Amino acid sequence: MARYKDAVCSLCRREGEKLFLKGERCYSTKCAFERKPYPPGLHGKQAQFRRKKDSDYAMQLRAKQKARRVYGIMERQFRRYFREAERHRGMTGLNLLIALESRLDNVVYRLGFALSRAHARQLVRHGHFQVNGEKVDIPSYLVQPGDVVAVAPESRYKAVFKEIAQNLAHRAVPSWLSRDDETMSGRVLASPTREDMDVSLSEQLIVEYYSR
Ligand code: SF4
Repeated sequence: MARYKDAVCSLCRREGEKLFLKGERCYSTKCAFERKPYPPGLHGKQAQFRRKKDSDYAMQLRAKQKARRVYGIMERQFRRYFREAERHRGMTGLNLLIALESRLDNVVYRLGFALSRAHARQLVRHGHFQVNGEKVDIPSYLVQPGDVVAVAPESRYKAVFKEIAQNLAHRAVPSWLSRDDETMSGRVLASPTREDMDVSLSEQLIVEYYSR
């Protein structure tokens, strides 16, 4: 499966804001964006002073790239999400964000069972999660209201989950999910709404990008 392999922090520097892609490091003084808040590359530092007003296309592209990077999705798959969102009733941009937010790896992250979305994706791929009692190791699996997502019983005693369990109290859960810390499980109460999303994304610009 294709995935992004370059330095993750350069994505935040490219987008000009913190995307919180690396878990705890993002909240520490080691955060690359805190230390170097300008675009990556040889001329990145000068570029921030020379910056011209972005064209419409540039803003649309940046909005699309930012969403891709936050959810860790490659271009081709992101385009598929968009085409699927177009086919559904309602607003395409919102449909797109709801699909991204409903991915199993995102739900695991939002429930606090992983340090970042990338970490969640890895844990899901390694078979540490169940949906409704069945093992699911597909990060792009879309959860539905009523689904129960849980750390697999045999995985709960692994060091990684013991550490996560200790810090669960500090991880807030969005209103469309509920969490049971004892059983390390969570229930999907409803579809996510626009207000439930924890990153500022411009779905309108993404729609404009794909509608050119
Ligand atoms: Fe972005 Fe986190 Fe890296 Fe900071 S540490 S630049 S927020 S990925």
